[in-house]
Amino acid sequence: MPDVKNKSGIDAKTALFGLLGNPVGHSMSPFMQNQFLEQCGVNGVYLAFAVEKDAIGDAIRGMHAMGVQGANVTIPHKEAVIPHLCGMSKAAQACGAVNTLVYTPEGYYGDNTDGSGLLAALAAKNGWKAAGQKILMIGAGGAAKGVAVAMALEGAAEICIANRTVEKAQQLAEQIAALSDTRTAAISMESLQNPDLYKEYSTIVNTTSLGMSPNVDDMAPVCIEALNEQHLVVDLIYNPMETKLLRLAKAQGAKTASGLGMFVYQGVLAFEKWTGKTPEHIDDIESQLIERLTK
Ligand code: NAP
Repeated sequence: MPDVKNKSGIDAKTALFGLLGNPVGHSMSPFMQNQFLEQCGVNGVYLAFAVEKDAIGDAIRGMHAMGVQGANVTIPHKEAVIPHLCGMSKAAQACGAVNTLVYTPEGYYGDNTDGSGLLAALAAKNGWKAAGQKILMIGAGGAAKGVAVAMALEGAAEICIANRTVEKAQQLAEQIAALSDTRTAAISMESLQNPDLYKEYSTIVNTTSLGMSPNVDDMAPVCIEALNEQHLVVDLIYNPMETKLLRLAKAQGAKTASGLGMFVYQGVLAFEKWTGKTPEHIDDIESQLIERLTK
């Protein structure tokens, strides 16, 4: 096994995996994926590559020519990689975004494990399944799309999308309705102040950047008093680990989940696609990530 720090285990058979993004210097994926490789006894290393926007095609062709076995893709390349792939999963097609590349002899196959990562995290930690649920989703950006697509493909009963730009909520609602039997609705951010909304929807998912560090006092205008122990409140943000929304929701008795689970499980699902193996000590890795985040 390669020891990433002293490289003593790297040999001529070591497989390469990586992250394509820009910037990538802050990413926790190399730490996490190298832990997974070590845990699962895979002779491989995972490195981060900062790739300029106009070089993404060259990067993918070069990776393939060299037999790089798999990669994650992050901002700003999630859409730009698409013309360079040999095929895409249903989730990636529906999102119009790819976060995972899997090597095939014909080229890279693109997948999107962001939304399914959130669902896997909620299933593992909260025993929550999207099927039959009525979900209130706040935000209609890239992350919202991934989450809404995954929830719809898993049979969510209804997704109501609140967004500052209501037209974007409407577009996403229409897209989800065309993709699945999930009922959809689009509302304004101001509508979130209506307490009756929270009688309808027991799962609330914040997909906006409101509350993310350094703006930790920001919060979507959720009617906190309407929350109770029947609600699960999810925030995709993991920096800070507990946003103002989660803190106030927890004080009302609601169950809460931070975005770290989504980050970890999107990585687990990508790792499974590359290696066919499932990391066993996922909670340990998550604890180590929390230590790194709170250092
Ligand atoms: P994005 O595409 O830029 O979308 C941002 C969303 O936030 C939009 O709905 C936007 O509304 C809304 N928003 C931003 N500033 C706002 C404000 N001041 N008031 C009201 N609404 C505001 O970004 P994204 O890629 O979807 O990422 C969103 C969040 O998810 C980020 O915090 C990111 O870190 C997190 N995320 C977490 C994970 C994970 O693994 N846990 C993965 C991906 C993303 P408009 O449409 O009106 O602009």
